[in-house]
Parts: sequence; structure tokens; C-alpha cells
Amino acid sequence: MPLHDKDSVRDSIEDDVYASVDLSVSMPKYKFPTSEQNPRHAYAVVHDELMLDGNSRQNLATFCQTWAEPEVQQLMNDCLDKNMVDKDEYPQTAELEARCVHMLADLWNSPAGANTIGCSTTGSSEAAMLGGMAMKRAWEAKRKAAGKPIDKPNLVTGPVQICWHKFTRYWDIEHREIPMEHDRLIMTPEEVLSRVDENTIGVVPTLGVTFTCQYEPVKAVADALDQLEEETGLDIRMHVDAASGGFLAPFCSPDLVWDFRIPRVKSINASGHKFGLSPLGVGWVIWRESTDLPEELIFWVNYLGGNMRDIALNFSRPGGQVVCQYYNFLRLGKEGYRKIHSACYETAQYIASEIEKLGPFEVIYNGEMDAGIPAVCWKMKEDANAGFSLYDMADRLRSRGWQVPAYSLPANMQELSIQRILVRQGVSRDLGALLVEDMKRTLEHFQQHPVLTPMTPAEASGFHH
Ligand SMILES: *Cc1c(COP(=O)(O)O)cnc(C)c1O
Repeated sequence: MPLHDKDSVRDSIEDDVYASVDLSVSMPKYKFPTSEQNPRHAYAVVHDELMLDGNSRQNLATFCQTWAEPEVQQLMNDCLDKNMVDKDEYPQTAELEARCVHMLADLWNSPAGANTIGCSTTGSSEAAMLGGMAMKRAWEAKRKAAGKPIDKPNLVTGPVQICWHKFTRYWDIEHREIPMEHDRLIMTPEEVLSRVDENTIGVVPTLGVTFTCQYEPVKAVADALDQLEEETGLDIRMHVDAASGGFLAPFCSPDLVWDFRIPRVKSINASGHKFGLSPLGVGWVIWRESTDLPEELIFWVNYLGGNMRDIALNFSRPGGQVVCQYYNFLRLGKEGYRKIHSACYETAQYIASEIEKLGPFEVIYNGEMDAGIPAVCWKMKEDANAGFSLYDMADRLRSRGWQVPAYSLPANMQELSIQRILVRQGVSRDLGALLVEDMKRTLEHFQQHPVLTPMTPAEASGFHH
């Protein structure tokens, strides 16, 4: 090589990423970039931004999966190119989805498990939308057949997740949401009965209320509606929002009757990416029997020369999450799910008892199996005089990476703030103990450095689900 070429060779030797010239200037943020970048450099920039998100394993606010087996990660990679909607092109992915539908119908005791109807969705929100639409259509059909008006539909729920607020708002349905009362934080049969009428498209109990994590009494509500039908002829269907509970109760509380064993329960939604243990982006809606889904909500697509139902709202959708759901069903079975979730319940109960010992807190829900999901929620004791608020606590715990947000309850309990942690796969007993240690340290910190003006809900920008 001629000597005079040496400099140009040196120029093309790759610098260390962080010594490269293009990273010495600020990256475009809000204007569309003009020029291209070296992929390694662009990756480093994006990857570094993500560090500020914090550590998802310490995010105890989320119900969603933050840990996955290596096989799940591999399958997600294998499926990067799988489009759920291309049932003709990826018939085996479609087949795995169909198998999951049947397995779930079986798990939830559908009398017609082998030919039930249902589909995967992007999560429980989309699944709830589909379940809600079916309720509305079925109610309309019945009313039309009886020559009655269909202009005033209403839906009766307990304190629900925001997806039901979306459903009722998008579809102009009156939402009769049962407010919380001092010692009653969930739906009761009496409260339901006082709100239903001939315009009620359905009643939606939640198996694992997002605010307090408790199961609503599905069976008792169904019994009350049976009684109502006997007395008045009014036949009101139920949909269970089992976003969390649908993947817990069948394994850990098999005697709890909440599913298709109750004839009035016509549909169920659940989040595969919560206690279904799949990566983010999968939910399920299953109807009790195929006749429970009105025909007009079904679109038919060509599939291997045959016809296949398309029910979901989205068109293109990633297939990996669904494939991993099938993997989890095979890999774990009832036994594996029971082991994982039972460990979570035990850890939740351990954390609850430790939090109770700290002094100023009163545990509202302690992760009791059969009563709700593996989680703990607590409030400040009325006479605690702690000198700090739960919002200060959340803020301080954040300095150790823990995300344990405090939030105020919905109507009529807005004045009460609580703190809640979800104990899911990956939150081990030892990780729980580390959190408790940090809570103790936080209490000592507040003793030595009293908070002058405790943070209020309005000031705390904390989010919740
Ligand atoms: C999480 C949750 C939802 C929403 O589910 P996504 O899967 O996040 O869309 C609905 N209802 C309940 C009870 C939930 O816990």
C-alpha cells in the first residue's frame, strides 16, 4: 500500500461508538431527520434513551409480563414476520390461534368447547370492545323482535377499567357504574339489581378489579339475575372481564364458579399478556357458544381455499404473542400455571404481612387466593399521623428504582388514596424482601427528614392502570 493511502485507511477504521463524530452532535428530536446514520450509532442512541424508562422488573404497578423464558424470546424472534391477519399465508399461526381459543373455552368450562367461537386480540381492551358489541347487538335483536325501541341502551358494571368507559362512550351507551361505598369497593347483587332494566344490554363483573385487585361475586350476581328473570321475565346476559382472573382462578381457585359453568355468562375476556404469561400484545375473547356471537359481527376471510372467521378489530397484527401463548399452554399446562401463580400469591401474602408490621399502613387486600389476584394494596391508617403521604412514599421509593405508585380511588371514594403492588412471575420472595427493606429505610428517612408539606394526589403525577 502506498504510504500516502495510510491516512484514508485510518479514516475508515471504525471509531468506538461514543467517539464517533456523528454522536458528538445532538440527534434530531422532533423534525424528520435529513440524513442517514450508522446503524450501530443510531442503535446506541435509542438504546440509551430507553434506560430512562427505569427497570420494568421493579415496576410493581403493571399487571403485564416483564419477564420471559429464553424460549419465549426465541419464538418472538422467529415470529417477527408473522401477520395474524394473513391466515391464508400463515395457516399454521392461524391454527395455533384457533387451538388457543378451544383450549381457553375448555379451561373456562364452555359446554361447547370443541366448537366455541372466539379470537385473539391486542389485549383485553379490544376483547372487551368485541364482547360489548356482541351484547349490544344481541339486545337490539331481541328488542326489535319484540317491536320495542333500542335508543336507550345501558350497561351495568362495578368500578371498571377504562376500557369499559371507552366502550360505552364510543357506542353511546349509558354507563351505570356502581360507585364504591365506604366498606364496599366492588359490585354486589343488590347494587346490580337496583340498576338493571329492560334497556340493560348486559352486566359486567370484573374478576380482579384493577383498583383493589378483588374478584367481584360473579355467581351471586348471576343468581340474582336468575331470580329477576323468574319474577319479571327480564333476561339479562353477563360478560365477565377476567383480564387477570381468567388466567388465575382456573389454576389456583378451581372451585370458584365464575365462568361458563354459569349459563348466563355469555362471553369472557382475558389478557394473555397479564397472568397468561405471554409477551405484550395479546388478549382473548371467547363466547360461550357460537350462537352467542351475532352473525353480523363476523367477517369471513379466505383460508386455504376455505372460509375462516375474522372477528378482531385490527387488520394486521403481530403473531408472535399468540404463538407464545400456545407455547405457554403446552409448556406449563394447568400444573405449571398453578405453580407459578401460587408462588406469587404466597409472596404477596408475605409482603402484605411485612407491610402491616411497618406501622402506619392498613392492608386492604393481602393477595388472598380465591378472593382476588396476587397483589397487595394498602392505605394510610386513619390515625397514622405519619407526616408524609403515600405519594411521598412512592416518590422516595422511586430513588431505588421501585415503581409503586399511589392513586386515589374512583367515585365515591376519591378522597381515599391507596398504594398497590402486583406480584407476578419474576417478583420473587427475595425481591419482595428487598422492597420491604427499602420501605423501612424510607420510613426512617421521613422520621429524620420530615416532609414539610405532604404531596397530594393532584400534585403527584403518578399514573395508574
Ligand atoms: C388490564 C385490564 C384491562 C385492559 O386490558 P389490556 O390487556 O391492558 O388492554 C381491562 N380490564 C381489566 C380488569 C384489566 O385489569
